[in-house]
Parts: sequence; C-alpha cells; structure tokens
Amino acid sequence: MQLHGKTALVTGSTSGIGLGIATVLAQAGASLVLNGFGDPAPALRAVQAHGVQAIHHPADVSEPGEIAAMVALAEATFGAVDILVNNAGIQHVASVEHFPVERWDAIIAINLSSVFHATRLCLPGMKARGWGRIVNIASAHGLVGSVGKAAYVAAKHGVVGLTKVVALETAELNITCNALCPGFVLTPLVQQQIDTRIAQGLSPEAATQALLADKQPSLEFVTPEQLGELVSFLCSEAARQVRGAAWSMDGGWTAG
Ligand code: NAD
Repeated sequence: MQLHGKTALVTGSTSGIGLGIATVLAQAGASLVLNGFGDPAPALRAVQAHGVQAIHHPADVSEPGEIAAMVALAEATFGAVDILVNNAGIQHVASVEHFPVERWDAIIAINLSSVFHATRLCLPGMKARGWGRIVNIASAHGLVGSVGKAAYVAAKHGVVGLTKVVALETAELNITCNALCPGFVLTPLVQQQIDTRIAQGLSPEAATQALLADKQPSLEFVTPEQLGELVSFLCSEAARQVRGAAWSMDGGWTAG
C-alpha cells in the first residue's frame, strides 16, 4: 500500500490503458479521480474493488476549462492531486495531404495540449505539498514515426519534449515528470487499426499478427497492467531520480 494517502488523477481512465493504470494505483492504495467518456460505473467498480475512494469527472480534455473544473473537484474532494497520469488520447490514420484538419486539431488538443493544461493546473498544489509524480503516456510514436500518423506522431513527440521541460523545471523538488512510450497495447484504439485490416480481407488472427509483425519484434501486446506497474514504480521513492525519461515498454519496437 505504498500509495495510501495519495490521490491520483488519470485522464482517459474509463477504458484501456488508463483503466489498467488506475487499477494498479488503486491496488497500491491511492484514491482515484477517473476521467473519460462512456459509462464510468464499470471503471469506478474496478478501482473501488481495491477498497479505495474513487470519483469520476467527465471533462473533455480538449477543453482547458473542463480540465480546470476536474482538477478543482479533485482538490475539493481529496485535498490534493499527488499523482497526475496524462493518458487520454485518440488516433486517426491518413496521409498528410488527406489528413482532415479537424482531426489534426483534435489530436493535438487531446494528446498534447491537455498534458500542458493538466500539468500547469496540478503543479502549484504539488509544489505546495512538496511531493508529486507526473507520468505522461506518450508512445513509441513519441520516439519514431510511422506512415499515416502525422498528428499522433507530432503530438507524442511533443509530449516527450514537454516532459523533459517539466522535469527540468522541477528538478530540485520531490516532483518528477516522466513519459512512458508503449508499443501496441490491445485496446479499442488499436482494435480500430486491426479492424481496418479485417475490412481489407484478413482474418482477425492474421490482421492482429500483421499489425504486430510490422512493428513489435516480441509479437506480443504490451498490457495495461504492465504499464500500471511501471507507473507505480515511478511513484515510488526508488524512482525519485528518474526524471525526464522517455521510458520504452514496446516489445523491442524502438530497439531496431
Ligand atoms: P482507449 O481508446 O482504450 O482509451 C482512451 C481513453 O481516453 C478513454 O477512456 C476515452 O474515453 C478517453 N478519451 C478520449 N478522448 C477524450 C477526451 N477528449 N477527453 C477525455 N477523455 C477522452 O485508448 P488507449 O489505447 O487506452 O490509449 C490511452 C493512451 O495510450 C493514449 O494516449 C494513447 O495514445 C496511448 N498509447 C496507446 C497505445 C496502444 O497500443 N493502445 C500505444 C501507445 C500509446
């Protein structure tokens, strides 16, 4: 229960990686502020099963004012946001010249600008209490590019850069900021890309294997629970000097 007495806010935690991270933080004893679209009840039940308090705020993180309202509710309810996990994200695949401008703007707002807004809003409280952990869920695409993912790759590279600046600006404090760079995790975001291959005539198994074989040498998905355990480690005292890292968990994707 190393996180007993701490409060974690995880954006985009009604599904996928965010829910996996929130669940591991709940196992470690943290109170949770969940966020994301859809029915929050299953996610709330999943974290409350570990005996911790949890609330959900429906902020659309593309709206800075809604992020501010979420942070205010978190601080009013639990007195603090000690751990901020910037996880909410979306994807769209198209070549640069065919990339819908509206999708570009949405990806930059949700995957990049929200990280800036949540961080600037949570940092004063962390500084006042002298403790904080910020973990930004970037991607292997924060380190390397891929065809068709201009907005996502630009946003995730931006997250890695922002992470370094926040780490430097907090370097003398017990506040750390790091980025995680996962490879493929089987969530709704990646299932869309498998479904595209199925629509092109591949079987579900062949479509899944083709996706992995293209990028991920282990040929296995990373799991939300594995990412949650890494976030939990980054919240520990042992990780106090891990600062500004872009930590890969990608089955070897970026090793080649
Ligand atoms: P997901 O689609 O399963 O979950 C995304 C979550 O974000 C959901 O809870 C959704 O409701 C929420 N969300 C979406 N738009 C939002 C908005 N405007 N405001 C608030 N919440 C919003 O996706 P995932 O695969 O779990 O992705 C989570 C993060 O991990 C993303 O930042 C993604 O880029 C990153 N990531 C995913 C993979 C992967 O393979 N799945 C790999 C590397 C990085």
